[in-house]
Amino acid sequence: NHAWLLASRPDGEPVKENFRLVEQPLPQIKEGEILLRTHYLSLDPYMRGRMDDSKSYAPPAELDQPMVGGTVSQVAESRHPDFKAGDWVLAASGWQSYAVSNGEGITPLGHLPHPSWALGILGMPGFTAWMGLMDIGQPQAGETLVVAAATGPVGATVGQLGKLKGCHVVGVAGGEEKCRYAIEKLGFSACIDHHRDDFAEQLAAACPDGIDIYFENVGGKVFDAVLPLLNTAARVPVCGLVSGYSSRELPPGPDRTPQLMGTILKRRLRVQGFIIFQDYGDRYPEFLEAMTPLVEQEKVLYREHVIEGLENAPQAFFDMLKGKNFGKTVVKVA
Ligand code: NDP
Repeated sequence: NHAWLLASRPDGEPVKENFRLVEQPLPQIKEGEILLRTHYLSLDPYMRGRMDDSKSYAPPAELDQPMVGGTVSQVAESRHPDFKAGDWVLAASGWQSYAVSNGEGITPLGHLPHPSWALGILGMPGFTAWMGLMDIGQPQAGETLVVAAATGPVGATVGQLGKLKGCHVVGVAGGEEKCRYAIEKLGFSACIDHHRDDFAEQLAAACPDGIDIYFENVGGKVFDAVLPLLNTAARVPVCGLVSGYSSRELPPGPDRTPQLMGTILKRRLRVQGFIIFQDYGDRYPEFLEAMTPLVEQEKVLYREHVIEGLENAPQAFFDMLKGKNFGKTVVKVA
């Protein structure tokens, strides 16, 4: 039974020394508890924020405790009336191979063909894509939708849902291979590699009618290139800003707040942040009902980036933040 503890808080980019691998005895359960064996651990960008000790929408991860994280687990032992050994569940066991739970916040998964998908397309990232696009983005046929991190679980889902709504979908991704996948497999109209020197020109050329919806996943220079292209009454669901999660200071250069605010005013932009479970938690069943058939009928495709072994979790996490993942990052633990 192994666990990665949060050993220290990062100063900028997270490093290996921020985590410590420990071996622990297998926990004993009491009446009313279950022992969960982790099969899949989800690695997500939000975890970078939890490593900091700063005020946010969720409390920081605690030092010297297993790092937080969503898991797909199997009940190994049960002394709880609602669970029996062998049940598959969605849990938040964190970066460890076993965890004890009293059943609170544990969702039974039944018999899913791909249990790990409950961490991606049929879980938190898929839900985020669905609500952010449908509720805030409000896509209309013929509109231009731009989304970055376009092959990740949120971005790929946003783009494919936008296509189903009849939008002209332009992705932004890191590298040619990801861009080719977005166009050929996911059906995006175009996908631009943000590493290119002429990224802003390429993006403008791919959006000849401007941008009606920019689903914000990354911030930074992608947002800088998008801003001048936004049409009047464009919607900007602000979902994530992963390019800056490890930044300690403001970027160099002049203060561009007046330009940003001026554009919001003159083009009547609707820029709205959201935190998925805080804002939309009660609509999860509605999402599952709508998304499950789309996934089953392969109208929305899903790609995983599976890392074998809990011991590789920190490196896989660093890689994901830097775009070395290709699809939803999950660690196969058991
Ligand atoms: P991904 O699996 O897509 O991983 C993050 C991706 O961000 C990387 O693969 C990389 O893709 C891209 N990226 C990293 N750095 C940069 C950069 N400097 N410039 C441009 N792109 C960069 O993540 P998710 O799909 O899980 O999450 C996407 C976003 O959604 C994140 O910002 C996350 O925090 C946010 N989110 C927000 C939620 C909410 O409730 N608001 C809930 C869930 C997620 P590439 O190589 O293609 O550039």
